[in-house]
Amino acid sequence: MNRDVGGGHFTVPAQPTQVVFGAGSLSTLGDELAVSVLSPVLLLCSNSGRELAHRLATELPDTVVGVFDESRMHVPRPTVEAARKTAASLGARACVAVGGGSAIGLAKALALEANLQYIAIPTTYSGSEMTPVWGITEGQTKTTGRAERVRPVSVLYDPDLTHSLPAGVSVTSGLNAIAHAAEALYAPDRSPLTDLMAQEAVRAMAAALPAVVADPTADGPRSAALYAAWLSGTCLGLTTMSLHHKLCHALGGSLDLPHAETHAVLLPHTLAFNLEEAPEARARMGQALGHDDPSTRLWQLNQELEVPASLRELGADPTGLATVREQALSAPYANPRRVSGDSLDRILTAAFNGEPPERLRPMA
Ligand code: NAD
Repeated sequence: MNRDVGGGHFTVPAQPTQVVFGAGSLSTLGDELAVSVLSPVLLLCSNSGRELAHRLATELPDTVVGVFDESRMHVPRPTVEAARKTAASLGARACVAVGGGSAIGLAKALALEANLQYIAIPTTYSGSEMTPVWGITEGQTKTTGRAERVRPVSVLYDPDLTHSLPAGVSVTSGLNAIAHAAEALYAPDRSPLTDLMAQEAVRAMAAALPAVVADPTADGPRSAALYAAWLSGTCLGLTTMSLHHKLCHALGGSLDLPHAETHAVLLPHTLAFNLEEAPEARARMGQALGHDDPSTRLWQLNQELEVPASLRELGADPTGLATVREQALSAPYANPRRVSGDSLDRILTAAFNGEPPERLRPMA
């Protein structure tokens, strides 16, 4: 065992969520509903999940009482109130969230505030279904928190449902998942279990994404990517994230940048900084990516997958970077390397301009 993990001492929190994985597992939803949650049930989705949600409602008429198809990115307060009203008017006692982080985020808000249990059917690689983290946005302010009761009772991972996810969204969502796993590798509360899961998640996702882009409807790569997303989400739920997630949160909030794309652009730069002082994480990332400089390899992967090259391309206003810098310096958080204003300037400038990340020094 690696004694670097807590000096040989660690805690792995309980994870009450059941996971059902595999092509066609959607067909078990009726049985899952019968044994796992109260009924009747309200289906939650966004535009892209509408057709599937209505099909499920038709197939499960005894359990499903309605479809709420207005879930939105960042869980706006008016959406939570509208969904809550719909659930109450239909007498729903539980939900099924079909979709990405937006639909699952809405289910979490209803679990938190209306005590509704739910089953999650993820169709992106966000990993939200495996975490106790919730978020609700009031006006421009997103409040987040942790609560065990926002975890789903059960998650059905069916790769068939991800075939329709556009290649570009798949890539950035997958790179977002890699970011969760990468930061789990140097988290203060990591364990031997999260180390194994995170390394495997990075390996599987990095291998799957080029194949997903080559053929978005091929079963094997879709299955591998969703498997990696499950592992990454589990790591996200079990560990504390560091500089990379902190900066992405600040960039998203202050400069209104798209969530997954921001993660993809920034990750090579934050890792080039942090891995310098996280040798175990660097070794695991290197093995997962088959490269002795993992941050450089991720930057190359971004290019191969045609991810936007810079924060500038994402529409970032350069005058806002100073605010992001101050936010990242203001509240302390766990990070393997001390963060200074100068280092943040280097990271943000390189990411803004689309420069390659700084090369890691050779291992001693
Ligand atoms: P999303 O749910 O908005 O999905 C992204 C886009 O993909 C949307 O346009 C959606 O309609 C579309 N889509 C989803 N599945 C599809 C499919 N199968 N076919 C075609 N289109 C499909 O966003 P996301 O990227 O899944 O998640 C990002 C959100 O999740 C952010 O708000 C983020 O803050 C949150 N998040 C939360 C946690 C947590 O632990 N609470 C973790 C990760 C992400």
